Amino acid sequence: MIIQLSKHITADQRDQLIAAITKLGYKANGVTTQVANYIVAIGKKEFDIRTLGNLPGIEDIHRVSDDYKLVSNKWKVNRTVIDLGDGVRIGDGSLAIMAGPCSIENEKQIQDTIDHLKQNGVRIMRGGVFKPRSSPYAFRGLGIEGLKLWYSLAKQSGIKIVTEVMQVSQIAEMVDYVDVFQVGARNTQNFNLLDELGKVDKPVMIKRGISGTIEELLYSAEYVFSAGNEKLMLCERGIRTYERASRNTFDINAIPILKEKTHLPVIADPSHGIGIREFVEPVALAAAVAGADGVIYETHQKPEEAFSDGQQTLDFAESARLINKLNKIQQLSFGN
Ligand code: PEP
Ligand code: MN
Repeated sequence: MIIQLSKHITADQRDQLIAAITKLGYKANGVTTQVANYIVAIGKKEFDIRTLGNLPGIEDIHRVSDDYKLVSNKWKVNRTVIDLGDGVRIGDGSLAIMAGPCSIENEKQIQDTIDHLKQNGVRIMRGGVFKPRSSPYAFRGLGIEGLKLWYSLAKQSGIKIVTEVMQVSQIAEMVDYVDVFQVGARNTQNFNLLDELGKVDKPVMIKRGISGTIEELLYSAEYVFSAGNEKLMLCERGIRTYERASRNTFDINAIPILKEKTHLPVIADPSHGIGIREFVEPVALAAAVAGADGVIYETHQKPEEAFSDGQQTLDFAESARLINKLNKIQQLSFGN
């Protein structure tokens, strides 16, 4: 059960409400976000909802049968829209396109990518400065200095930044230079990181774990929301299955299932989802048709020279073609 508290609730009224919830055999968890104050009541007993609904200081009360609560579609009337400022919005019915290299490499690469995005009307650039790599000897990113350089170039061009944060200690140094914090697939269940991102007033995109279920992804989002941050979106990026013909198996099912289960925007990452450059486009298009709110993919001036993930990275001509096709799908409004 989710109870949204009135802005004018008094301390006495809140205590009275918590006592009533406890008496029903429910555990009351207080949640404060940028948007509202809630009590998330956990329990299973049947009761007449009017016993609570008539108490003073309540804005709204909803039963939510799912085990995750605040991210569930069952209580929020409107879908979550993430506003990045300057007219850049995610989840408002348009298809958000986010593109850029796997790793941020140098000034020229950043500027080339920004120019490419601008020429094609894309407002959000992806890229990693802290890179989770399977091998410790692989390129692990330019770090915070790379992010600052990227930020200065992106800001001049009105381009928004989505980049991965790998650990709690990086949040504070990154927060002024990012528009969206990405939680990578290897960190989906890093609950300390999720808790801390709940305390930040910046959007967070959580990727599905490499072997994670859809439900686990929703629970990860519940961590961030219940710690205070409603500016959240989810990303399907392929899962590990027995199939070896592709790097991962993009789970197209996850798109409509997530759209039905949560009010949060759902993003598709076809680059990591299939891991093969020639097939990024069809997977991206399929995800858009399936109702994704956005697509995030890797592009680079010269994929063969990319510091990481070149094998799944589109060159700018391929990227421009994909953007064009995604825009056409959007015009057909196949999405939701
Ligand atoms: C990335 O976006 O470059 C990345 C490392 O993604 P994932 O966490 O999905 O593997
Ligand atoms: Mn990558």
